[in-house]
Amino acid sequence: MKDVKQTDLMIIGAGPGGYVGAIYAARKGLKVTLVEKRWIGGTCLNAGCIPTKALIKAVEVFEEAKTGSKFGIDVEGVTANWTNIQIQKNKVTDSLRQGVEVLLAKNGVNVVNGSASFADDGTILVAASAGNEFYQARNTIIATGAKTKHLHITGIDLPVVIDSEQILTLSTIPQSLTIIGGGVIGMEFAFIFGRLGVRVTVIEFMPQILPAVDLEIVQRLSRYAKMANINVITNAAVTSIEQNETGKAIVKYKQNDIDKFVESDLVLEAVGRIPELGNLSLNNIKINLSKNGGIEVNSQMQTSNETVYAIGDCTNLVQLAHVASHQAIVAVDNILGVQNKMEYNFVPSVIFTTPEIATVGKSEKNLLDAGVPYQVSKIPYGSNGKALILNQPIGFIKLFREIKSKRLVGASVFGVEANSLIATLTVALNNNLTVADIKKTIFAHPTLSELIYDSALSLDHEAIHFFDEP
Ligand SMILES: Cc1cc2nc3c(=O)[nH]c(=O)nc-3n(C[C@H](O)[C@H](O)[C@H](O)COP(=O)(O)OP(=O)(O)OC[C@H]3O[C@@H](n4cnc5c(N)ncnc54)[C@H](O)[C@@H]3O)c2cc1C
Repeated sequence: MKDVKQTDLMIIGAGPGGYVGAIYAARKGLKVTLVEKRWIGGTCLNAGCIPTKALIKAVEVFEEAKTGSKFGIDVEGVTANWTNIQIQKNKVTDSLRQGVEVLLAKNGVNVVNGSASFADDGTILVAASAGNEFYQARNTIIATGAKTKHLHITGIDLPVVIDSEQILTLSTIPQSLTIIGGGVIGMEFAFIFGRLGVRVTVIEFMPQILPAVDLEIVQRLSRYAKMANINVITNAAVTSIEQNETGKAIVKYKQNDIDKFVESDLVLEAVGRIPELGNLSLNNIKINLSKNGGIEVNSQMQTSNETVYAIGDCTNLVQLAHVASHQAIVAVDNILGVQNKMEYNFVPSVIFTTPEIATVGKSEKNLLDAGVPYQVSKIPYGSNGKALILNQPIGFIKLFREIKSKRLVGASVFGVEANSLIATLTVALNNNLTVADIKKTIFAHPTLSELIYDSALSLDHEAIHFFDEP
């Protein structure tokens, strides 16, 4: 007879979905087992959100140093040292991973290093380095994340073609880089490498890069892309990749029925990510998949098997770390008998290009498509004292209000620190705050947050630091 260990809650995958769920459930008194086959922190901490933003910070420091003279600081001989940039990036990820490991231990979570799958009798088999272990859990949360989606074209397996994980650990930077896919991941890498002086070409299948983003913002971003050594090619389908005799990659694509090609040292494949369900053997516990290829869940994050929940990228609903973490809280609450459900109306989203883009709620396109009458205010960063202090006057903030209900329904921020401004706007929208509520709020001076105050006032043509004609 096999030895079956008992646990209240088994969580498979220790990304921002799984580890947050484990800590939260343990704090609520559950006996939690967390199985991870590769690295605590998942894609987000080890090969996603954190390392990419650490690289972006390095590039920002590089550019600030080069433009030091604008602030009266004379700096000479500024160079970007890729090896040291990598060391700093690794320090950040190592320190965060160790922090999460300590938190899991302090909260009494049983962390098992191994790969989990569902055995045919419903127990969970963990293939660990020390041998197989079997678990029986009252509830299970699947949080196995996603993996790179691959194009089915000739040459995609060539060594010059890399994915978003491999590009993070390059030992040297290339002179030229072709990025297939102008989505969020593709564009963030385009700005990182373009600003380091790499000749970058982005090939996007759709008519615009970042297809879900406000067209006006994309048009503005495209201008800054050019200035950052990035050549964007849209409406183009990559057909094959070859490697020439000097080792360069030749990416062939079709644009408006014309065959073209681009030559570069490396190619980054960034055409999306698909749920990682690989070796779970979901058929053994009767779990349905949805049309989008992810695990099907209801708003409580429960799968078609009522004791099993699924959260994060493996559901393929919204591939964002903070959504995975929030879904974890919702799933654990429901396991504990506390009613909670996911709402996706006000999920903030940040794209760390230069300038940054941050959005929450409805975009102008959403409102136009739905035929909802709305008002929009638009306040330029150039009207804000802190933006000038930072020497970052580029960009704007747009706020949308539904005319009938007078409710604030969406916001888009394009500019420096958009990532911070969107938090305040998310709280406002998520709590149905009105322009009057924002008017009653005092925003510290001099800060970029004053842009929020003016954009709210501007909906009633009352902005103070910007003249918007009634
Ligand atoms: C380059 C890049 C940049 C990104 N930037 C951002 C960003 O700035 N902001 C943002 O919100 N999102 C960003 N994302 C997306 C974000 O990383 C994901 O949405 C997030 O990691 C999803 O969390 P998760 O817990 O669902 O899965 P993951 O973080 O992928 O974790 C899943 C874990 O499960 C483990 N696992 C899988 N199968 C098994 C198994 N059978 N047994 C045991 N363990 C298993 C995996 O090893 C992995 O560690 C980025 C992604 C990439 C690739």
